[in-house]
Amino acid sequence: MLDIAKIRADFPILERQVHKKNLAYLDNGATTLKPNQVVETIDKHYKEECSNIHRGIHWLSERATESYEGTREKVKNLINAESTDNIVFNSGTTAGINLVVQSYGRSQLNAGDEVIISAMEHHSNIVPWQMLRDEKGIVIKVVPVLEDGSLDMAAFYALISEKTKFISIMYVSNVLGTVNPMQEICDKANELNIPVLVDAAQAIAHMPVDVQKLNCTFMVFSAHKMYGPTGVGVLYGKAEYLEKMPPVNGGGDMILSVSFDKTVYNVAPYKFEAGTPNIAGVIGLGAAVDYLLTFDWQQVEDREAELIAYAHEKLEQIPGLKIIGTAKIKSGAVSFTMKDIHPHDIGTIVDRSGVAIRTGHHCAQPLMEFYGIVATARASFAIYNTKEEVDQLVKALEKVQEIFA
Ligand code: PMP
Repeated sequence: MLDIAKIRADFPILERQVHKKNLAYLDNGATTLKPNQVVETIDKHYKEECSNIHRGIHWLSERATESYEGTREKVKNLINAESTDNIVFNSGTTAGINLVVQSYGRSQLNAGDEVIISAMEHHSNIVPWQMLRDEKGIVIKVVPVLEDGSLDMAAFYALISEKTKFISIMYVSNVLGTVNPMQEICDKANELNIPVLVDAAQAIAHMPVDVQKLNCTFMVFSAHKMYGPTGVGVLYGKAEYLEKMPPVNGGGDMILSVSFDKTVYNVAPYKFEAGTPNIAGVIGLGAAVDYLLTFDWQQVEDREAELIAYAHEKLEQIPGLKIIGTAKIKSGAVSFTMKDIHPHDIGTIVDRSGVAIRTGHHCAQPLMEFYGIVATARASFAIYNTKEEVDQLVKALEKVQEIFA
């Protein structure tokens, strides 16, 4: 069993009062809170080893480089990558997808080639592909979503053809909480030799993720959704892909040699990390990985499943409340609407009770369109959340009903 009181003590922000009420932070899908272990590691970097990496041969620079590169090893272990060379640091999930699209997509895909995404994707896995479509004439095919918020897998199989040259799908929906059958999707992609990108932004802090078992070509995620700092993310790529992909940003640190006639690029992952990176952020990500790995995954999954089930049970009892996304396998998030009450009003009113939830389209406007709505209210969970916080949300929602009665 997870020791929730002990975990909560790692997150001093949970002690905050908001509008004179105890904070119930249920916006973890947007970003998780950061434990002392992460904040202190970043603090320590700036106070004790602040330096640029890879460049100097001085002592401080060596320390900073060791910590930075140490995170590559930690991330490699977290996702069971083949080697640290498969781990590219960037600014987040969005940057990771854009890199794959602008590098692999631009160099390898041609007019008429089809890319399969899904109707539940985050805008960050839609818009970069549309930009490539406008530039090169690729065709985007969309796997529809079933009413319960699961992927229409029959449609997925039907969409695959000889023209399919890439598949890019989210592991867990940030709106619906649906856990997609990623292994099945990767198996099919591999059978047909189609590269597949897994957007693991909402999976990485909630379940064990194994890139070799999935056998995915690429995986992307953000540190800030896994108890780490903002502005840092990871792109995992299979070696044979990263090797043939051209860099997108040119500059310092991504080269072996430069002359006005000829520049020789560094190897992966360095050729994708031009310029001074977010050193403190990457080091903070390393601390977040360490923190995450102090827990037993089964216990994390059980705990979060219990919270989700409890939230479903309690929310379903509120008259007029509709849960959007009722797939059997869910993780992390519960979205809902309340008749004609605008989700922004719901969010504003529950905030007065100290409850932080997200409202809006959650960067998934096509999914909103599918459900014929413009927005939802979303409660999303992390390891420190409690049933009492769900109760606090439910009470606040009852207040919303009173106000709009
Ligand atoms: N994909 C998913 C599934 C997400 O939930 C998010 C963040 N809400 C993103 C991509 C984008 O992540 P970031 O803003 O950290 O780049």
